[in-house]
Amino acid sequence: DGAIRFEDVRFSYDEARPILKGISFEVPAGKTVAIVGPSGAGKSTLSRLLYRFYDIQEGRISIDGQDVRDVTQKSLRAAIGMVPQDTVLFNDTIAYNVRYGRVEASEAEIQQAADLAQIGPFIRELPDGFKSMVGERGLKLSGGEKQRVAIARTILKAPPILILDEATSALDTATEQEIQASLDFVSKGRTTLVIAHRLSTVVSADEIIVLKDGVIAERGRHADLLEQK
Ligand code: ADP
Ligand code: ADP
Repeated sequence: DGAIRFEDVRFSYDEARPILKGISFEVPAGKTVAIVGPSGAGKSTLSRLLYRFYDIQEGRISIDGQDVRDVTQKSLRAAIGMVPQDTVLFNDTIAYNVRYGRVEASEAEIQQAADLAQIGPFIRELPDGFKSMVGERGLKLSGGEKQRVAIARTILKAPPILILDEATSALDTATEQEIQASLDFVSKGRTTLVIAHRLSTVVSADEIIVLKDGVIAERGRHADLLEQK
């Protein structure tokens, strides 16, 4: 479920400066495709087009053969989970933050997702900065722990499609490896679009697409792309 197809997709924020100039690729159901390229290449833009944060000007984007323009924003958001670079938490408990993608979840389901993401012990706590507004010290979460909140949210939501948008790039190397292991766990069996700026972080992707100046500059598996260099 959740096969993604981009067909000759063209997009610009401003007519004078096209960002994507005819992008075609597929993410077969359950597979992982990585979009790699320098900052400003249009990687985040491309992921936002999938959930229709913006609409494309030309081409077609479809999920399981259905044009995303024929799908409501609500069902697109339900089908797509997202782990951004920096997870911004709501002014409420960690449990509330985990539940965000699926408000009807039971306490037991929230706890189970939090345990799998290794934030189980502190789901009743408030993040730091919020508790301090009422004069108490809150729980100070590290960058890695905040990403674990986003991972717990994804486990609970269990969407067929997952977007990992530079999900480990704000972390130090040791934390990056731990969080990567958790991300590999949640992306297993899901159609996954990984956005990254370095090839070295997407070694296990089924396909890597290198975006440059609005077009696909190269594509292949990690080993193939390294050979060409
Ligand atoms: P990447 O994710 O590869 O760093 P982005 O998709 O964020 O690239 O951005 C691609 C280009 O589009 C950049 O030049 C950026 O400045 C521009 N851009 C991104 N978002 C907007 C926006 N909301 N309005 C206008 N230009 C934007
Ligand atoms: P940005 O990428 O600049 O943070 P977005 O509007 O793409 O802005 O996302 C804002 C927040 O909403 C993200 O941090 C993410 O947690 C959440 N979000 C965005 N898209 C989705 C989605 N499809 N499914 C679940 N959460 C989403």
